[in-house]
Amino acid sequence: MAKYLFVTGGVSSSLGKGIFAASIAKLLQARGYRVTIQKLDPYINIDPGTLNPYEHGECYVTNDGAETDLDLGHYERFLNVRTSQANNVTTGRVYQTVIDKERRGDYLGKTIQVIPHITNEIQRRIQLLGETGDYDIIITEIGGTVGDIESLPYIESIRQLSWQLGKHDCLVIHLTLVPYLAAAGELKTKPTQHSVKMLLEAGVQPDILVCRTEYPLGQDIRRKIARFCNVNINAVIEARDADSIYDVPIEMLRENIDRIVLAKLRLPSSGEPDLSGWKGFLARLKNPVNEVRIGLVGKYTELQDAYKSIQEAFIHAGAANECAVDLVHINSELLDADNVAKKLQGLHGVLVAPGFGERGIDGKLVAIRHVRENGIPFFGICLGMQCAVVEFARNVLGFKGAHSTEMAPKTKFPVIGLMAEQKDIEEMGGTMRLGAYPCKIFKRSRAYQIYNRQRIEERHRHRYEFNNTYLKDFESAGMMASGVNPEQNLVEIVEIKDHPWFVGVQFHPEFNSTVESPAPLFMGFVQASLQHKQSLAEAASAPSAN
Ligand code: GLN
Repeated sequence: MAKYLFVTGGVSSSLGKGIFAASIAKLLQARGYRVTIQKLDPYINIDPGTLNPYEHGECYVTNDGAETDLDLGHYERFLNVRTSQANNVTTGRVYQTVIDKERRGDYLGKTIQVIPHITNEIQRRIQLLGETGDYDIIITEIGGTVGDIESLPYIESIRQLSWQLGKHDCLVIHLTLVPYLAAAGELKTKPTQHSVKMLLEAGVQPDILVCRTEYPLGQDIRRKIARFCNVNINAVIEARDADSIYDVPIEMLRENIDRIVLAKLRLPSSGEPDLSGWKGFLARLKNPVNEVRIGLVGKYTELQDAYKSIQEAFIHAGAANECAVDLVHINSELLDADNVAKKLQGLHGVLVAPGFGERGIDGKLVAIRHVRENGIPFFGICLGMQCAVVEFARNVLGFKGAHSTEMAPKTKFPVIGLMAEQKDIEEMGGTMRLGAYPCKIFKRSRAYQIYNRQRIEERHRHRYEFNNTYLKDFESAGMMASGVNPEQNLVEIVEIKDHPWFVGVQFHPEFNSTVESPAPLFMGFVQASLQHKQSLAEAASAPSAN
């Protein structure tokens, strides 16, 4: 039977519950346990697919096509294990299920209430992953902060489930903040006491307290927290601010959290976890021998989390190449033909980001023209690839006003258009082309050199597609479709032959990148950027012709 570990948060949001959950999972996995993580989000959206990235950061996509919270990206990147629809549950989805059942008459005339109907549905969804038999331990992270009205049914569900499962089959980890008051020169435990008190009022006793702190937690502070919160002193865990999220598993190991968890769950914990691969990655990450500067051209540049998976994919690919990637965010709305050379100066590669809608498109097009004409490595993802197609149509093929019908429905040259099956869709949520689809790669292409395989699967999140009516025009002018969907013949990858590295992909390779297995396209792009940097240096040091 699977064991359950619940992770709650107190005092403040943004304490990094997702990273802690992923780190604890990593340690348990490194001891040979089969672990997965699930996120319960207390908001009423069915999923974050319809949320503006400014609201909630990037929308992550799983293989089976779930549009999810970005924490699922951390889970996959840390564990190298795929997540699915079952790994992200929102209040909206819980209510939708209950209301659908009510409409079908499944409740046989009963009054439908938060307790027991909503809480039963939450418990059912928590246990779904355990019932597959694929995991020894399920970690369930509850979004939000204890004390929020909207998280009450989740806390109540944990209480009921803990009682039902018994004390050796589940435990509760509460993540909290121990602030430092500079004026008093002290760490303060009161907010932690209060947030634990709130959990206790709801009938939940945490077993482990993970305390975020800027300074070391001395024994006296640990003892005080232990005494006021009814936990064992060794279950008061110090979580200092780390240089990198990838250091957190090592920090948690130092605090023995894996042993404490396993002892409570009555699971064996002999020996040490095997973290050799992880430590190797950290060593490469921290000791780069090279550095490249890559521009990320997008419109959500004010919010770091909007391109989370892309940033992390660069960290994985950079470390694998012992190369630090300095990612420079460039707001496409501020780019124009006059300033583009200046704004992209000093970059060794340019990535044009995914996105939706008209805003910032012109800037993306001028950036692409600049890198195409100047032999600077280019990587376009989803909308970035579509923009590369539009730019090529306008400036190489001479298709004046060519565009995607997303931005210009009446364009004379719809080089990017709506997929046939998308034409009659009216609902926005969950209706894009989502999740993993196969792609066949042509042997004589850069894509083949990169993947070294003819068949790949990558994840999608889009409505619009390359318009095959124009394929011949593109190919005869030097932009080839080097990867296509084998069933529907949809163009998945485009590349320019006479360019050092110009690749656009309709899919999102960043969602498949993990510490253990960096995305091949990011690896190739980092290497190409490094090569570009070296050739610039060689050109600068070569004696001039005259
Ligand atoms: N807006 C484009 C589409 O729907 C691209 C989407 C994306 O970049 N994820 O096809």
